[in-house]
Formats: sequence, C-alpha cells, structure tokens
Amino acid sequence: MDKRTKFTLDEKEIPTHWYNIQADLPEPLPPVLHPGTGKPVTPDDLAPLFPMELIKQEVSTERWIEIPEEVREIYKLWRPTTLFRAHRLEKALDTPAKIFYKYEGTSPPGSHKPNTAVAQAYYSKIEGAKRITTETGAGQWGSALSFGCATFGLECKVYMVRISYNQKPYRRIMMETWGAKCIPSPSSDTKAGRAMLAKDPDCPGSLGLAISEAVEDAVSRDDTHYALGSVLNHVLLHQTVNGLEAKRLMEKVDAYPDIIVGCIGGGSNFAGLFLPFVKDKIDGIKPDLRIINVEPASCPTTTKGPYAYDFGDEAGLTPLIKMFTLGHGFIPPPIHAGGLRYHGMAPIICHLLRLGLVEARAEHQLATFQAGITFARTEGIISAPEPNHAIKVVIDEALKCREAGESKTILLAHSGHGHVDMAAYDAYLSGKLEDYEYPDEKIKEALAQLPKVG
Ligand SMILES: *Cc1c(COP(=O)(O)O)cnc(C)c1O
Repeated sequence: MDKRTKFTLDEKEIPTHWYNIQADLPEPLPPVLHPGTGKPVTPDDLAPLFPMELIKQEVSTERWIEIPEEVREIYKLWRPTTLFRAHRLEKALDTPAKIFYKYEGTSPPGSHKPNTAVAQAYYSKIEGAKRITTETGAGQWGSALSFGCATFGLECKVYMVRISYNQKPYRRIMMETWGAKCIPSPSSDTKAGRAMLAKDPDCPGSLGLAISEAVEDAVSRDDTHYALGSVLNHVLLHQTVNGLEAKRLMEKVDAYPDIIVGCIGGGSNFAGLFLPFVKDKIDGIKPDLRIINVEPASCPTTTKGPYAYDFGDEAGLTPLIKMFTLGHGFIPPPIHAGGLRYHGMAPIICHLLRLGLVEARAEHQLATFQAGITFARTEGIISAPEPNHAIKVVIDEALKCREAGESKTILLAHSGHGHVDMAAYDAYLSGKLEDYEYPDEKIKEALAQLPKVG
C-alpha cells in the first residue's frame, strides 16, 4: 500500500457524472406522499418549489446523471478534494489500523454543501428563476447556497434559526458578503413565522419552522425556487461527486476500506461519500464492508426514532416522507453541532438502514469534542463539531483494532472545518460544554403528532 500522506486527482479527473443509487437498490424507496391526498406526489405538485430537472432527479432510476459543464467549471474552484492518510493520528493511537480521510473543508464555505448548492443554483438559473429561498440552522447551508447563488447571479434569501442568528453572527456575515439576505426565523415575513411569534415571541426557532417559512415564501412568488441542503435524493446524488473521487483515490492507493464512518444530520455528506461503495456491498464485491452513520445522542433520529411517514417541516407544508423521525414538532437541545439537529433523515439512508446495508450509532457531544481535539493536535485540522462525531467513532474503531491486533482500513468522511465554530471549542476548553440526553417522554410527545397515513 502507498505510504504517502496526501492523494489527489487532477482537475481533469473531476467526475463527469453523479452516481444514482436508485438504479441499484434491492428494493425501491417508498413513495413520497402528498400531505392533502395521501397519494404519491406528482411532478406538478413540486413544480412551484423546485426546478423540473431536480424533480426528475429525485425519482430517476438512471444510474449515471451527467454533471453539467457549467457546474463542473465551478467545482474546479476546490475540487477534486484531497484524500489524506492520518499517519500522525494512527501513531498517537498506536493502532495497526490504516486511517484515511476525504476532506471537504477546502471549499469556499468550508464544507461539502456547495457540491449541491452550486448544482441547485444552476438548474434554477437555466429554468428562469431569479431568486432562491432556503432555511439554515447554524448557517453552513445558508452560506453554501449564498455562494452558489453568487456564482450564477441569483438573489438568495435565507431564513436562519433565531438562536443561531443571535449566537453565531459570522456565518450570516459570510452570506451577506456573497450578496444574500439573511433574517432570523421565526420572522414576520411569513404566515408560519407570524403564527409562531404570536404563540411565543421568544421562540428560539427550529430548522423545521425555518423550512416552513422558506417554502411559504417560494410558493408565494413565481420568480422564486426553494432549495434544501440535505435529506432529498437529488441532494445526496450531487454529493456523490465526493464518493466517486474517494473511490478512485483509494484505488490509486491500492486500498479498499473495511469501515467507512461519517456524521449524519440530514445524511447528505456521508451518503455522498459511501453510496459508490455501498454498490459494491449490494453487488457482493465487498460483502463485509461496514458503513457507520454517526448522529448526536441528543438528536437520536435513527437510533431512537420510529420509521414512519412524517413532514419535513414544522408547519406541515412539505410532502410526507417515510423516514426515521423524532416528530416534526421536535425542538432539539442546543448542542453545537447545529448541522446535526434535524428531526428526520434522508430516506435513502433510512432505507439502507432497514435493509441492513449500513448501521447507526449515537455519540454525546463532550466525547466528540475530545476526539476533535485529538484530531487537531495530530492531523492539524480543526474540524467542525459535526465531523467530530465521526472522528470519535473512527478513534474507537482504531482502538478496537489495537486490542485485536487487526490492521483494518478505515475511511472517514470529513465534512468540513470548524473555523466559524471556535466559540464551541472555547466552551469545551473552558469546561462549559454539557451533554444532553434527549428524554424519552419528549420523543413520545413529538411522535404523538405524527400524521396518520393510509
Ligand atoms: C451541514 C453539515 C453536516 C450535516 O449535514 P448532512 O446533510 O448530514 O451532511 C455535517 N457536516 C458539516 C460540516 C455540515 O456543514
């Protein structure tokens, strides 16, 4: 095996097509349902929200979908991204395991998110939209879409969960630098926002509620599309550009992962990395490959939630999606991994969990920060709180290899840097960070509101 530290591809080797797992699933995904009729949604139902090309991608079963030339041109600003061998982390852990990580933190907004933001902005632009609305939690998606819209000259309006808007000004300033408008949610600009403010003027907001506002804004205007940064099939599809690069790079190193680890909020960064590998598991080429999805113990969607139809947003405006869910009324505890605080999960990941092709685990935030500090002091990169969850599990698995004397190959999906999250590191380093166990009664309460289907 190649012993170098960094492995890269040439700009010319950026994949020309995204990989669509829907072509290879052993059973098809359950349909997405219209909230009014309970029947499968039609393209017409979604047309007020999304460009038609994305609506087609959402249900396509074609294995390869071409990445438009204009999108690949913009990808060149940071793609292909580097595969690293974590020699120094391996040494610090004294493990025979070989640890690799594919690092997405070198994109302009510092995460994997522009892989889809740029594509979504492109399709809206060529289908005639002038403006895109979206929601954002901690601000990573809002900043990625602001960048994407800037590259195609579109207006962008971001509804940002109020508690983050107040606590984390730097992502908002990034959005404004790229020319977007960012306002706190709940806002007085929409019916959903005004209804919540009437109930609770101090409402800290939630991702579900911010989605309601952004969707309402988009459907009320002809010139506006809505964009979602995770969960949906087309978002995971766009992220496979990263997994395809990773697979080619692992081949160059002459290695194949035994274990792939990533963090899941809505599931897009990790699915983007592992989907091209899961195909080998389905095809029986690598049947013992383990794929570990890591979520926060305080937002235990796939480890504690039921598999049920639920809304994607708080107000119940979106179609019904079959997924593991904590209930659309779920208001998450204020952990620092803002990108992992969503009540639902990508239907593709849920389906693969049900089929036993991938597994899931939950971790507490203190242990994840400890892992992040170990990573920073060995590999140098200061990671976002989200990938720290995955780093925690990589370290655990590498230590198991030490116990067992096994030299497994571990691949980490590293979704981004933590340079805009230094307040979280400050809280950890000064001993102010706490763990939250999400109480079982609260989960029951939120689940009592699940919509009745069929
Ligand atoms: C948004 C975000 C996540 C979580 O979103 P997924 O769709 O699950 O990938 C993870 N890491 C970083 C750095 C993010 O910005």
